Amino acid sequence: MTPAVGYRFWRVDPDDAWTRGRLQSPVAETLWPPLETLDAECQTRPGLRLARAGLHRADELRVSPEPGCSCGIYAYHDIAPMTRALREEPYMFGGAVLCWGRIVIHPEGLRAEHARPLALCRPESPGVLQRTAPLLEHVTREYAIPLLELKDLVTYASEFGASYKPDPSEPQPRTIDRVRNAVSFRQLVRRLGKAIGG
Ligand SMILES: [Zn+2]
Repeated sequence: MTPAVGYRFWRVDPDDAWTRGRLQSPVAETLWPPLETLDAECQTRPGLRLARAGLHRADELRVSPEPGCSCGIYAYHDIAPMTRALREEPYMFGGAVLCWGRIVIHPEGLRAEHARPLALCRPESPGVLQRTAPLLEHVTREYAIPLLELKDLVTYASEFGASYKPDPSEPQPRTIDRVRNAVSFRQLVRRLGKAIGG
């Protein structure tokens, strides 16, 4: 299976001694390890893990993502929802990710078992760019990924994998499943506070 390309955003806190300029999932607070693969876990917080256990099939408790659960590493199929979110948050940066392993596909995005960042994109605002240039240089060096103009991000990322955005002309799952999937992805994103978790 060809790896999937997706788009998402991270928080990078330059002043946090613990995260030290690492890419961090905005809500799940997962730190993405430089030069390594990030692996999905159902939940790192014990209370939530217990609450979500029922959403996994009994024989697959350890596998993430599970279709009925909200776990996994999130990415959008397109850059537009990513850039919309970036305008609202300081120290939030967008980029492309490569996803593989088990993948749950939703209309707007996907949840994956494994992922690594492919590239970050330069902030569109000149003021933000100027303010964050040293930080972004540091981060992209740590992760050994390029810092690209937004317009070049899709072309670059496409070299590594394929878009898994559902094709509307292809036969769709039953309507009820499709509606449920669309609703659930939006609800998940909203529940994560306009941000993408895991
Ligand atoms: Zn789960």
